[in-house]
Amino acid sequence: MDLFEEKMKALKDMAPENQMQVVGKLKERCPCPTCPSYTGCAKNAGETLFCTTGKSFMCISEEKGCSCPTCPIAKEMGLKYQFFCTRGSEKAQRYENTIWGTKMI
Ligand code: SF4
Ligand code: SF4
Repeated sequence: MDLFEEKMKALKDMAPENQMQVVGKLKERCPCPTCPSYTGCAKNAGETLFCTTGKSFMCISEEKGCSCPTCPIAKEMGLKYQFFCTRGSEKAQRYENTIWGTKMI
């Protein structure tokens, strides 16, 4: 089990209210709003933390750069991927790679 899998397991074992608290705190720290790909639509919808919550809901479609590789949360969570707002959460990108056996980046 790698760091990301350990973190996900720990989150899954928490009570729902604690999960929401942890995710809420991560959302506050997520630097997505300073990324060139981030849009006003995403801001108005309060979208952040795409690595965990998954793709943007029709607010981000163009990849103009990604701050994820230098994000402290990515290091803490053991993330391998990026462009979560357009390509899906870390979990989704890992799962798709498992199924198709291809690299998305
Ligand atoms: S997931 Fe990456 S590309 Fe998308 S808004 Fe966040 S930092 Fe930018
Ligand atoms: S890894 Fe990307 S999506 Fe996740 S918190 Fe950092 S900037 Fe936000």
